[in-house]
Amino acid sequence: MQDAFDQQHIWHPYTSMTQPLPCYKVKAANGAVIELEDGTELIDGMSSWWCTIHGYNHSELNQAVTKQLESMSHIMFGGLTHQPAIDVSKLLLEITAPELDKIFFADSGSVAVEVALKMAVQYWNARQQPQKTNFVTTRSGYHGDTWNAMSVCDPVTGMHQIFGSSLPNRLFVPAPQSRFDGAWQPEDIQPLEHLLVQQHQQIAAMIIEPIVQGAGGMRFYHPEYLKQAKLLCEKYDVLLILDEIATGFGRTGKLFAYEHAQVTPDIMCIGKALTGGYMTLSATLTTRHVAETISSGEAGVFMHGPTFMANPLACAVALKSTQLLLAQDWQTRIQQIERTLEQYLLDLKSLAQVKDVRVLGAIGVVELHQTIDLARFQAECVCRGVWIRPFGCLVYVMPPYVISTQQLETLLKHMREMIQQIEAVA
Ligand SMILES: *Cc1c(COP(=O)(O)O)cnc(C)c1O
Repeated sequence: MQDAFDQQHIWHPYTSMTQPLPCYKVKAANGAVIELEDGTELIDGMSSWWCTIHGYNHSELNQAVTKQLESMSHIMFGGLTHQPAIDVSKLLLEITAPELDKIFFADSGSVAVEVALKMAVQYWNARQQPQKTNFVTTRSGYHGDTWNAMSVCDPVTGMHQIFGSSLPNRLFVPAPQSRFDGAWQPEDIQPLEHLLVQQHQQIAAMIIEPIVQGAGGMRFYHPEYLKQAKLLCEKYDVLLILDEIATGFGRTGKLFAYEHAQVTPDIMCIGKALTGGYMTLSATLTTRHVAETISSGEAGVFMHGPTFMANPLACAVALKSTQLLLAQDWQTRIQQIERTLEQYLLDLKSLAQVKDVRVLGAIGVVELHQTIDLARFQAECVCRGVWIRPFGCLVYVMPPYVISTQQLETLLKHMREMIQQIEAVA
């Protein structure tokens, strides 16, 4: 099932070109099922990394793309505009916090983060505080793989030492310790306050993933941390950037994760599930105040303009995907998934090899004491007919919302068994 040309010439994410891990060739995908070339069917536990919330090959999403394709697949956004961009912008600004009033489209999550960071720097420049150029963030975060996005990822898992002095030095505070479902520990916020007291003159913004830290460790923290962080940002004149790229569009049980804390960002990034996983599109939203301040600055304009900005195909499918989500009782659906995840995963905590189990919305995480043998684990997944891709010590699932109860139970039964089989290290 491996393809020889692929193995020799095509780079896959985070892999070696000399000792590539196996890659299974996919022929098609439908609903919550991935079909491999040899006909093997896998129940999808990953939503292609948070994206395909409505499942694969969805007739209405297909239709949205093909309909748009008939009139225009792409058009430059400089000096021109189009209805799909206008319609999706209206809807996105309507469903996010009322303070968010302006939207900038880009082509991937990492670029949306770059845009957010640049907005913050231009904002302070326009406010005659050009020395405010640095950023504060927490450990265990993940914000993408481009240069500045990488600079605010966790320094260890983001491999900062490899890039040495080529990477800007950001300011890090420890990851929030108070769990989402635990008691709030007020001392949790102290490192942030200490840092802001000392260095706020240099800091343009704080960037953080609201409630769920994704690829940096799959940790769920207490909403009070976000509330306190927002208050501190206001007190010390630092903008708050929320990276909702993974958490947006219902994944945590709220439409956007910041709603758990009722905190409004100055700048917010969305991506991943924005198009239902059909196409790459991201957006950076901000307030009228931030946008008008940037526009009043020396440059008078915001300095960014991707070639594929607001691609019409992507905007059309993003509109349809968001409408599909809002038209259904997605809260109940996510709650059902959450309950099933809890039912099948929580008691794994008693196993010696398991360090922690956490469930929030349609995300289920089992953290082990040891690193998982990825190649072996995935080969077994394929044998069992499920698709789960662990990283480090984490085995986790975030299935498409359309997964049936039976498919979900099968997925989780296999996940349980595979975890039970992993031997505890003494
Ligand atoms: C995936 C992710 C990104 C990067 O998005 P890409 O589309 O991969 O560039 C940024 N932030 C968060 C929180 C993410 O999960």
